[in-house]
Amino acid sequence: MRTGVLRTSVGPRFVRIEGDVAHLLDRAPWLGGKDTGETAKVAGNLLCPVTPSKIVCIGRNYAAHAKEMGAEAPAEPMLFLKPPSALLDPGGTVLCPPESAKVEHEAELTIVIGKRAKNVPKDQALSYVFGYTCACDVTARDVQRKDVQFTRGKGFDTFCPLGPVVQTELDPAAVRIQCRVNGQTRQDGNTKNMIFDVPTLVAYVSRMMTLEPGDVILTGTPEGVGPLVPGDALEVEIDGIGTLQLAVGK
Ligand code: ZN
Repeated sequence: MRTGVLRTSVGPRFVRIEGDVAHLLDRAPWLGGKDTGETAKVAGNLLCPVTPSKIVCIGRNYAAHAKEMGAEAPAEPMLFLKPPSALLDPGGTVLCPPESAKVEHEAELTIVIGKRAKNVPKDQALSYVFGYTCACDVTARDVQRKDVQFTRGKGFDTFCPLGPVVQTELDPAAVRIQCRVNGQTRQDGNTKNMIFDVPTLVAYVSRMMTLEPGDVILTGTPEGVGPLVPGDALEVEIDGIGTLQLAVGK
């Protein structure tokens, strides 16, 4: 099943998507949302498909990316947070802030939590996952390096484009992740190369903080991160989910 949030004349609505038809739901799908019987055309009206209480991110979860950053692969998952105010709808514009001269893309498989998770064992972790979506962990690299900690460099408004849909039927163990800028492939990775896999990440994060339904975990980026400048067209594509299409501006 694919779910999303649709812009309608009465505001944003959770939907179940079949082709170009959106079936309106009575509440969030991870809260058991049921069809209301109303339908609408998808037709470019998808909004960010989640409204998370927190956005958890994993740093350096692919050895080749850690290496291109000049960093060691971590011995345990490296966590940081992005504020929900950084979320950006599919089709939106990533804004390069005046504080940075080096904004970069990081394409990432994103976990959507389905039920409250605290101290979840790894062998049960996947039962707490609702589905998966695409995100770009947009990063002001110069600000990140200058501040040492990540809050400012990763937390600007528009620095967490996410969507276009949540796919509930995906095996996260080996999926292809691509990032294209102006049609040119910048990143072409596969989740099989993650240092810490999805069950490990859900279990680990749930030891530190209670995960709520609709919360998301960005699972880290494969190698090939690079610059974004105003005027660029940015795409994050994950096999089995879809393509998150964005513009870059200032
Ligand atoms: Zn990242």
